[in-house]
Amino acid sequence: MTDATIIDGKAFSEALVTRIAEKASALSAKIGRPPALAVVLVGNDPASGVYVRNKIERTTAAGMTSIEHRLEADTSQDSLLALIDDLNNDDAVDGILVQLPLPDQIDEAAVINAITPDKDVDGFHVVNAGRLATGQDALVPCTPYGCLLLLRDHLGSLSGLNAVVIGRSNIVGKPMAQLLLQESCTVTIAHSRTRDLQDVCAAADIVVAAVGRPEMITGDFIKPGATVIDVGINRVPAPERGEGKFRLTGDVDYTSAVAKAGAITPVPGGVGPMTIACLLRNTLVAAARRFDAGPMEI
Ligand code: NAD
Repeated sequence: MTDATIIDGKAFSEALVTRIAEKASALSAKIGRPPALAVVLVGNDPASGVYVRNKIERTTAAGMTSIEHRLEADTSQDSLLALIDDLNNDDAVDGILVQLPLPDQIDEAAVINAITPDKDVDGFHVVNAGRLATGQDALVPCTPYGCLLLLRDHLGSLSGLNAVVIGRSNIVGKPMAQLLLQESCTVTIAHSRTRDLQDVCAAADIVVAAVGRPEMITGDFIKPGATVIDVGINRVPAPERGEGKFRLTGDVDYTSAVAKAGAITPVPGGVGPMTIACLLRNTLVAAARRFDAGPMEI
């Protein structure tokens, strides 16, 4: 068997962002200003700082406005909720993103559900989760939506395919399963209590791994020719690169999986770049809906 096709999420996301930027420019002309995303960062977590900087840079590069709010690590929940209330009522803001995780004194669910659903560009609000689950227009979480775009691009119709989603988080696993169900896949959600995961994966035409365990899914789990989407981003020690160095790896053991799969996303360069692209897409969609500017499907 020959090696799998490598699904190039970086190239796909770049083309997607180009299309988003064109539509953002057309929408700006219609509504009199660029679509605007407010990004809220609480505290000094270095990884969150990098993610937020990245999101802001990419938003601006796509011709949208980025409004940054940095709050101290000891910010109270009430102050954060007050800021969200302001942003909800600010007509110049189309999307609101609160970078997770939040410090311990703040209840994440309370904050997520305080964002007005129509500005909830992360798609985490219970109303958007409900809309997605019932097949209504929703803002869909960025990472699973990015996976879906890659799957559609590679496979065309997904109808009737067996899909196994490994992981049941609210931000990846569950919405991924909902999206695949909407595409008429036969969907299985596997998780930490699943018995004999290898057996569960044996008939899967599509495997989406969102576990957070480096290289757990080996080629033995993959049906020959299956499409493998590796959502995992794990930092593992890489002494071969020097003392204290790390490398990024997925939840899939790439070397053994690439020899069995029909197609596979690499880490890095697979799902990761799609997440930010889909955040831009959601910001554009949210702005277009708020101003009744017609459908903005991308
Ligand atoms: P999470 O920790 O919230 O959920 C992990 C899930 O894996 C859980 O539902 C758990 O039941 C399941 N799990 C744990 N051990 C298992 C096992 N042995 N067998 C089967 N299932 C098991 O994680 P998450 O937020 O969903 O993220 C998952 C991975 O995706 C992480 O590596 C994260 O860094 C990555 N991620 C990447 C992006 C991206 O942009 N590419 C975005 C979000 C998350």
